[in-house]
Amino acid sequence: MTSTPTTSSSSSSSSTPNSSSTLVTGIAELVTNDELLEEADHSEHLGRLSNAAVVVQDGLIAWVGLAARAPETDDRRDLGGRAVIPGFVDSHSHLVFAGDRSAEFAARMNGVRYDGGGIANSVRATRAASDDELRALVAARVAEMRAQGTTTVEIKSGYGLSVEDEARSLRIAAEFTSETTFLGAHVVPPEFVNRRAEYIALVIGEMLSACVPYARWIDVFCEPRSAHAFTEDEARVVLSAGREAGLGLRVHGNQLGPGPGVGLAVEMGAASVDHCTFLREEDIEGLAAASDTTVATLLPGAEFSTRSRYPDARRMLDAGVSIALATDCNPGTCYSSSMPFVLALAVREMGLTPAEALRAATVGSAKSLQRNDIGVVRPGNRADLTVLDAPSYLYLSYRAGVPIASALDRGGRHGS
Ligand SMILES: [Zn+2]
Repeated sequence: MTSTPTTSSSSSSSSTPNSSSTLVTGIAELVTNDELLEEADHSEHLGRLSNAAVVVQDGLIAWVGLAARAPETDDRRDLGGRAVIPGFVDSHSHLVFAGDRSAEFAARMNGVRYDGGGIANSVRATRAASDDELRALVAARVAEMRAQGTTTVEIKSGYGLSVEDEARSLRIAAEFTSETTFLGAHVVPPEFVNRRAEYIALVIGEMLSACVPYARWIDVFCEPRSAHAFTEDEARVVLSAGREAGLGLRVHGNQLGPGPGVGLAVEMGAASVDHCTFLREEDIEGLAAASDTTVATLLPGAEFSTRSRYPDARRMLDAGVSIALATDCNPGTCYSSSMPFVLALAVREMGLTPAEALRAATVGSAKSLQRNDIGVVRPGNRADLTVLDAPSYLYLSYRAGVPIASALDRGGRHGS
């Protein structure tokens, strides 16, 4: 899964067979998210076509429309009456880690509260792993995501927490995606517990310099309620340094209780503030006013796996906040890589319609990565398509837990 905005798949050039055009047809229902598409059903902003077809060429979408009007192509792929949606954009994940924290999950389900402390366990195991071990772990997780319909993934560092281990986490992540995020300010590592200021100086100094070549974004766990995470002032210092180094801004905020994360993200013009579980009225107003710039990325898998309350997505949408959905796939608070599971939670637990959840997981999360070449199926965009073994997108939350979604490969073949 690559997600370089401007280039198509690896070996495509005008002289290779990859440059041939493929008609993907047999699409019972195509969700495009394209609000300008002619002949589409624009209810709930999905830009839906029945009996549709898509032409894919050089990894890009060349044509979208009714199958009956499809142009001539070199190849043809018949999906046999399935639904096709824009590939899921998982805009928040922590895939670079080693170790096993299943016992912590079991303890939490038996009443132990989450406070961010277990991250140190993943840090220990990640530091001890070889590059090849880490690479194999990330590859397996990315493949697992793709098999469930995810075509773009953002990957954060944050389990290295030393100059060397953060840089190599990002170097490995960058082998799989262009959406890499430096999260040296995940928690204060054990060896710096009584030297917080020194750790922050390291993060914004030597560590940032070592990570910038492999990172597009910087993120910080702004959560004064956790002794392990960072205060508003500390988070501002980290984000300012990242911005100065040319990185885009993301924030983990308001996960464990009302706090300064959302306000800080809005103040600094961050592209995304993630979790947003506990919001005050002023947070919602701030996010609504900043909806062109700052997306609230909701991670209901984390609430599920920590038995926490869910964010009030209904209230956010009604207030005009831009929202996204992502997995937060990580070893501590949500070891699920499944966007369909996240959609089902968003519909069942957060009051979104199936259409709102699908938009949040595609065009919404693309916006949180400031990408307009993904999340919408329209000519010129990347051919990131997900096939459902079902006649309609409604089945995503209707058939919760059933593996009906998978990514279509860029040449239009299914299941390779
Ligand atoms: Zn996270």
